Amino acid sequence: MTREDDKLNYVFNKLPEDIQDKIESDVDFYLLGEGDLGGCIGYTDKYCIIINCPLIPNLRTFRYTIAHEVAHYILGHGHIKRTDSISKNNQDEKEADALAEKWGFTLEE
Ligand SMILES: [Zn+2]
Repeated sequence: MTREDDKLNYVFNKLPEDIQDKIESDVDFYLLGEGDLGGCIGYTDKYCIIINCPLIPNLRTFRYTIAHEVAHYILGHGHIKRTDSISKNNQDEKEADALAEKWGFTLEE
């Protein structure tokens, strides 16, 4: 298991059990590492969550980002059409933030 898997599992284990089951069968995670320009996803029938790890400053932000992206999926916000960095203020973002916080993930100590 890689260090990245450990970080991902920490988030999974904090999510409600029904959500864990759903994520396991329906979602693929792609964690880009230092020096990765991109990943080849190919064809998939799963919802894809891609995290550009080198842009994430610390572990708390990593965990929060995973939970936030999972929240988008659970809330039915659709397949990836755009990245969060260019759509930070819309309603979907506020809802995903709220659900991530409900699961116990926050950006503040
Ligand atoms: Zn978002």
